Amino acid sequence: MKRWLVLVHGGAGEIGELSPAQEHSYRRQLRRAVEQAAAILDSGGRSLEAVTAAVQALEECALFNAGRGSVRNRQGIVEMDAAVMDGASRRAGAVAAVRSLRNPVLAARLVAERSPHVLLVADGAEAFAVSHGAVRVTPEYFTSSYFGSAEDTVGAVALDVEGNLAAATSTGGTAGKLPGRVGDSPLIGAGTYADNRSCAVSTTGTGEHFIRTVAAYSIHARLLWGRLSLEEAARQVLQEIDALGGTGGLIALDAAGNAVALCTSPGMYRAMASSDGRILTAIWREEPWQES
Ligand code: ASP
Repeated sequence: MKRWLVLVHGGAGEIGELSPAQEHSYRRQLRRAVEQAAAILDSGGRSLEAVTAAVQALEECALFNAGRGSVRNRQGIVEMDAAVMDGASRRAGAVAAVRSLRNPVLAARLVAERSPHVLLVADGAEAFAVSHGAVRVTPEYFTSSYFGSAEDTVGAVALDVEGNLAAATSTGGTAGKLPGRVGDSPLIGAGTYADNRSCAVSTTGTGEHFIRTVAAYSIHARLLWGRLSLEEAARQVLQEIDALGGTGGLIALDAAGNAVALCTSPGMYRAMASSDGRILTAIWREEPWQES
């Protein structure tokens, strides 16, 4: 049997003390998200389907800063960003600053598959997505308090049995951001990237630094032309971000099935499932993967 693999993240950040009950619910939700993706990959489905399903599951869960749990901008309004990229075709789609879509990741997918464009923003993105069946919600759907109680961005990367890589990322952005601010998540090459020749990457953290270092593409470039290992490439890029005063983390997979989940912040919610049947989670920076 050919190997498949999926990783998800639920954002990097401070992650203070978690009660055992809180920790349990984070691990349970991460696990549910990778299980959605695992079911697709295990039945021979495409990595793009798998990352979309995992991110959609996390958008539905109010614990994370994406979809339902999105944080609010300075005016108290939710503005969300999302992207998907397929490593086989290098087709990509993204939406930014959308306010009323239930699942921004599905809208990003529609942009990739039903439009000639890569990135649609605000009203235009919403109208396009709704015209293709995306579900709208009213402001009460979003559960975050003024600046949000959720932690960070969500994302997924996957390798399917055909050897195709894909990445997806979705976020409410940074709490208290200026209206109209767009982070790294929906910018192809900054927060999201996938190319079968190299790797699939989804990032989380201080988005401006990930944009300035073109973080996800920088990992790809180090693999493709610099011949670095995935781990070396990811560490270098996080170091570069750190040197600029940024912080965060990323998940990445290469075409050979090597996986990394690294962060410079105290923690990053993360989970992994693979064709060997194991589902693993971790929260704090140095925490080894654990069965959960
Ligand atoms: N990177 C996201 C952004 O800047 C936020 C996060 O990951 O916490 O929009």
